[in-house]
Amino acid sequence: MTAPDDAVENARWFEDFHRDRAARLERHLRALLEMDDPQCRYDHNGRCQAHYVESPCRVAAARSELGDDGGDD
Ligand SMILES: [Zn+2]
Repeated sequence: MTAPDDAVENARWFEDFHRDRAARLERHLRALLEMDDPQCRYDHNGRCQAHYVESPCRVAAARSELGDDGGDD
């Protein structure tokens, strides 16, 4: 995929490229989150024991960014 020379066309191409890329990344992230099904379980230090033992949990952050509260559909 090659960007055109014209500045306006180039800006449109750039916007389309990144919109398409964001859509693909969102699909991939949703698929990964479906595989990583367990809900967060925080210990007394606020670290998620269901995922990667960090705070805030990266799975919770990804679900939040996608507008998914992590509840059952
Ligand atoms: Zn978690």
